Amino acid sequence: MVAMSADRSNEVLRLLEDRLATISDVNSARKALNWDRHTYMPEGAVAARAEQLATLSRLVHEMLVSEETGELLFGALEKLEPGSESSDLVRRAKREYERAVKLPNRLVEELARATALAQPAWERARARSEWASFESHLQKILPLQQETAECLGYEDHPYDALLDLYEPGAKKARLQKIFEELKAELVPLIREICALSDGDRSPPLYGRFDEEKQEGFVRKVVSDFGYDWKRGRLDRVAHPFCVSLGGPGDVRITTRFDPGWLSPALFATLHEAGHAMYEQGIDPAYSRTPLSGGTSMGVHESQSRLWENLVGRSRTFWSFYYPRLHETFPEALGDTDLEAFYRAINEVKPSEIRVEADELTYNLHVLLRFELEVALLEGELSVSELPAAWNARMEEYLGVVPENDAVGVLQDVHWAAGLFCYFPTYTIGNILSAQLFDEATRARPDILEEMGDGEFGTLLGWLQENVHRYGSRYDPDDLIERAIGRPLATAPYLHYLKDKFGELYGLNAA
Ligand code: ZN
Repeated sequence: MVAMSADRSNEVLRLLEDRLATISDVNSARKALNWDRHTYMPEGAVAARAEQLATLSRLVHEMLVSEETGELLFGALEKLEPGSESSDLVRRAKREYERAVKLPNRLVEELARATALAQPAWERARARSEWASFESHLQKILPLQQETAECLGYEDHPYDALLDLYEPGAKKARLQKIFEELKAELVPLIREICALSDGDRSPPLYGRFDEEKQEGFVRKVVSDFGYDWKRGRLDRVAHPFCVSLGGPGDVRITTRFDPGWLSPALFATLHEAGHAMYEQGIDPAYSRTPLSGGTSMGVHESQSRLWENLVGRSRTFWSFYYPRLHETFPEALGDTDLEAFYRAINEVKPSEIRVEADELTYNLHVLLRFELEVALLEGELSVSELPAAWNARMEEYLGVVPENDAVGVLQDVHWAAGLFCYFPTYTIGNILSAQLFDEATRARPDILEEMGDGEFGTLLGWLQENVHRYGSRYDPDDLIERAIGRPLATAPYLHYLKDKFGELYGLNAA
């Protein structure tokens, strides 16, 4: 009897795994076409590619919500031992299934259509700084997001329902506390620093930087990090991203080059390589299952931020790489020494644009978006009031009033893309990056010494061992506890920022 039921359960599990693998394959094909759309697709393919992507998205959704998938899921789960790898896999798949079936097809379609129309409208509106032409799109998207939250369900706040799509288990109330802690420390610190500095953009990062040479340099750095080119590649796009095509065997990064400005290629490439090494480090056995892929957007961002900031904006890192960078660009960098360069890449300067923000001001950009999203979802703020509310908060938190809406409320694509409640995952990533780096260097003090020699094997090894290999097997809170033995907390991150920028701006000297 026992043996028979075990066999039957294995059979159900095998059928389920086959089905999930098929869904994963179709989804990987969709992602490959999407990668191509941003890299090499000729202009004439725009309309046909939109149809192809829509078809593949629909197929994935249909296969996921089908009765057959549901029966296999519940059949398999009944017989699995909790805590086993298979039960973690089925649990993750069940969550995706249950979410998908809660959303009526009509709502999914309406949201897909509204965001497909809103994105080109947003691009045009931003180019002309013309809020009015985008407002009507957001008027359509907001109620659809509110309806999505209602369909998914929540205990305390509609924000929780949408946030959970990107950060399983995260809650608005907890975010509010996190942001209060950050605000209390960062706003006065930024004011103090601004009172000291003259506000000029640092010259060493601007000049003539040959694109081929930039590419050669960043390729060398991410190779040293441990990004595996046999399982990846680097291409050029307007807005850099990283994509994994079904498992650790194909994880691609993209970047952009500005011949007059060193920062974009430098830090975007390190950032995307951080995302990519996470994906490359996932247990290959999870390929084509719901466990392949990072566990949340926040944990993913912790990896990109760790390599971009904790490593890539540190003095230790540049003590090794700056002489090499200088050798690559002797004319543009001239008599700039390591210290001047280090100061330039860490200059604190409140500005309008989130993606160009320094480490100190960055989270305030996220905070203001978080507060506006909460107010929009609650109905406290209307879409038409958004630009004024945006500018008021910019002035309050950063002392900057955007010159126009293009560099204000229109700067991000997220709301046009239907990604409400996504922004806070950037801050979760920042906080977690400091906690992970602390723990890694505590466990393996040789990491810092290696970093000064352009070696990163011990750091990457620690991350693979404690974070990467698990893929989506554990939810973020669980993964964090396992990796560092305590929950997400702002103190180590604030300590890192106060230490670093206090030293840079001479605030620590009594
Ligand atoms: Zn990122």
